[in-house]
Amino acid sequence: MRLILLGPPGAGKGTQAQRLIDQYAIPQLSTGDMLRAAVAAKTEVGVKAKEVMDAGHLVSDEIVNAIVAERIAQSDCANGFILDGYPRTLKQADAVEAMLRDRNLTLDHVIEMRVDDEVLITRVAGRYSCAKCGSVYHDTDRKPSVEGICDQCGSTEFKRRPDDNAETMRTRLWNYYKDTSPLVGYYHCKGLLRSIDGMQSVEEVTAAIEAIVSR
Ligand code: ADP
Ligand code: AMP
Repeated sequence: MRLILLGPPGAGKGTQAQRLIDQYAIPQLSTGDMLRAAVAAKTEVGVKAKEVMDAGHLVSDEIVNAIVAERIAQSDCANGFILDGYPRTLKQADAVEAMLRDRNLTLDHVIEMRVDDEVLITRVAGRYSCAKCGSVYHDTDRKPSVEGICDQCGSTEFKRRPDDNAETMRTRLWNYYKDTSPLVGYYHCKGLLRSIDGMQSVEEVTAAIEAIVSR
């Protein structure tokens, strides 16, 4: 299964991808996570990307396309993958199509997760994640079952993203509507788009995605 989760920052893409990877035994390819790893490792790409990410702008198509091309060539992607946060521009959408065409592969589904702006802002403002395994939580909506202990791995260390602040979020939302939302039309024209209500509970959103992918 080759799936794209499309939606603005805070729509719940990462949360849903983490639930689907266990179920379908395919990896989550989050360009945001890959770029944050490059920033932490201070690689050439990471050094270039840091300032752009901190300001909430998009990293260049060349950099992001190269990271994804390298990642999908790895053996754990042979049975499929979930793209989370990629593609984000029409150029990236063309690039992913070319990458798949080279391998005689196609996309199965593009799922657009729709969430109101006010809810996105609250979700991003309260987001934190496990420092060890990356499981995503929220200050009020999605706390670990035992406060301070990760449900997934038991770690007690958590972190917040430097770009999850109100000012950067405004820029990220703007960039979503300007550069990424045209992909809704792009995938609609290709007959791949399915839109779901991302305002529902995490469990209800998972059920909506499963109803689409199991068809
Ligand atoms: P994205 O990957 O699209 O940026 P995340 O999956 O990181 O979004 O979710 C953003 C925040 O919203 C996180 O704090 C997460 O716990 C919370 N969240 C995700 N899905 C839901 C949901 N359906 N209802 C309430 N909170 C949610
Ligand atoms: P995310 O984790 O998806 O919210 O991404 C965090 C940040 O990484 C974004 O605000 C961008 O600066 C950068 N980024 C992630 N994915 C992409 C992409 N596909 N294209 C360009 N920039 C990206």
